[in-house]
Amino acid sequence: MNPAMLLIAELRLLDVELVVDGENLRYQGPKGAVTPEHIQRLKSLKSEIRDRLIAEEDALSWRVDVMLASDPPTFWVLQLPPKPGQCWSCQEPQPLNQDGKCTLCCLASVRVSRIVDGIDPQVDEETQAERDMYISQQALMEIAS
Ligand SMILES: [Zn+2]
Repeated sequence: MNPAMLLIAELRLLDVELVVDGENLRYQGPKGAVTPEHIQRLKSLKSEIRDRLIAEEDALSWRVDVMLASDPPTFWVLQLPPKPGQCWSCQEPQPLNQDGKCTLCCLASVRVSRIVDGIDPQVDEETQAERDMYISQQALMEIAS
């Protein structure tokens, strides 16, 4: 696997999200998840990772839009019977004939759950305070070149 893609995938497994911010790259995730070794690799692969994330964003954002447009929001693009070798959500062909959702649909689901969670009117103040604290414990760091 390409080193940039490998690093993106590694960080996603650690629940770390990489965000393009203008010319910069930022990451958000649990404290301590990103090691100095990760930072080193992020710096050396920065522009390639940035290009890949930008290219991926189009494919991701239409999925998020479709999921959010459904009332209530779902984590599926289409709800049709699954076919072998296709994503169960967007029906696009899957590499290696894997089952279930494709990576982009999984990432879109994570984003939808964050959005839906953030606007949940049922959340009481105490729960909201706990969530705010959790978010503030997460690091949002800039990867300087
Ligand atoms: Zn899919």
